Amino acid sequence: MHDLDHIVKDIAAEMAERPDRGTVATYIPELANVDAGQFGIAIVDNDGRVFTGGDADTPFSIQSISKVFTLTLALGMAGDRLWRRVGREPSGSPFNSVVQLEFEKGIPRNPFINAGAIAVTDLILSGHQPREALGEILRFVRFLADDPSIAIDEKVAASEQRTGFRNAALANYMKSFGVIENPVDLALGVYFHQCAIAMSCRQLATAARFLAHNGRNPKTGLSVVNAERARRINAIMLTCGHYDGSGEFAYRVGLPGKSGVGGGILAIAPGRASIAVWSPGLDQNGNSHLGRIALEALTKRLGWSIFGA
Ligand code: GLN
Repeated sequence: MHDLDHIVKDIAAEMAERPDRGTVATYIPELANVDAGQFGIAIVDNDGRVFTGGDADTPFSIQSISKVFTLTLALGMAGDRLWRRVGREPSGSPFNSVVQLEFEKGIPRNPFINAGAIAVTDLILSGHQPREALGEILRFVRFLADDPSIAIDEKVAASEQRTGFRNAALANYMKSFGVIENPVDLALGVYFHQCAIAMSCRQLATAARFLAHNGRNPKTGLSVVNAERARRINAIMLTCGHYDGSGEFAYRVGLPGKSGVGGGILAIAPGRASIAVWSPGLDQNGNSHLGRIALEALTKRLGWSIFGA
């Protein structure tokens, strides 16, 4: 039996001391104001016990981690039809790359790069008003985390809405191939707001419990998705969750993971635990610098890499 409480506190103390903290994202102006000195970690184990260290209860902008929740929701709505609009291969390109879309006729490589996530959000939006679609996403996240207090940071959403020209380019390009069904500005509006959901490490690790337990909430036993779907979402997290840093993350950490430019990383140790870390400074691929280092230290100490101890 590992002393998880001791280990997370140890890692948090170690991360608090490190001078190398990466660089906070500035292309969304509101994110540039976040203090890079913060670090949080939370683990939810098999029995629903929560272990936390550092700033585990400070809400941060989940950004691209929201793509795990929208993919889960959209698969529930459309099933395998979703894969007509978006692929499931690693991109080997930056998260906001334009060039790949042209080669591949407007079909994004996977649901975790920006283009793919915008296409998934567009699918959720179809047949609804943007407000309803957003309500659906937020309700789903609150339900998973068992926490009705989770909210959207409107300042972050407005900040990205003002400056998200790249995402507008991606969406317009996909629209020209008919991959986006709804008006581009509406699909983008929902996308920017889902990225601006604010959650703490504790809330995030709790919300993702079902992915570590064959699709079930380990506390209630209730199923969120079936085991096959949970396994497949984990597979896409492993291969695509860190963009062109996905190989390095698998090499160093060895768990399915999804990062966001807010500095969060959600990682799944199948059959064991759901883990969230947060440190706002990013590496050159836009993934949390200390978040990755902390997860590497954690999986090493626990022997939790899916590739073996
Ligand atoms: N909202 C961000 C964007 O679209 C999300 C990117 C990310 O977290 N990698 O640029």
